[in-house]
Amino acid sequence: MPASFDPERWSQIAARRFHKACDASRKGAAAQFLRDQRSIPGLIKLVDWASSSGLKVSFSRIRNGAYDSSLRELRCSDRMCAENQLFVLLHESGHFDVGNPGPLDRFGSGYAAVSNPAIKHSMLHRIDVLDEELTAWALGLQRAKDLQIDIDIMRYNRLKASYVKSYISWALGTGDYVFDEGKDA
Ligand SMILES: [Zn+2]
Repeated sequence: MPASFDPERWSQIAARRFHKACDASRKGAAAQFLRDQRSIPGLIKLVDWASSSGLKVSFSRIRNGAYDSSLRELRCSDRMCAENQLFVLLHESGHFDVGNPGPLDRFGSGYAAVSNPAIKHSMLHRIDVLDEELTAWALGLQRAKDLQIDIDIMRYNRLKASYVKSYISWALGTGDYVFDEGKDA
């Protein structure tokens, strides 16, 4: 039986919906606050590890993150929540692990070949970049384990998936290049 229009009832439904949305967003914000608090000891461990490895860590108004091998610097957006900063910096530390591959090494036609016009637009280049990006996410996870950094692996993988989606889209020529900024490029 279809309900007839009752202004008072509709107004009560709207108010209920409003309060439910407020509760949900408060709960969501509270959960994120706890995850950010939980991430700060991990950021401390990672920054300490970077310092002992001769790496700088900087937070600034960039989008996402970056690893600058010439300055030995891991960079991260200062606008991200602490949890995502930890995940992104772990990933950037994976780029540090990859190092600077030569032309005949694995990943050698990726970032290292970005200034080579013969390779820059090739699928070879795109797949080597994709290969390095995926590897850097795997190495980031390994670093979290090695340093006993407490992370929510499902959330790490979810953030990874959102980045990997953009890498694949770029590799297939259907999306923007929205990777880490400044990686050897
Ligand atoms: Zn990356």
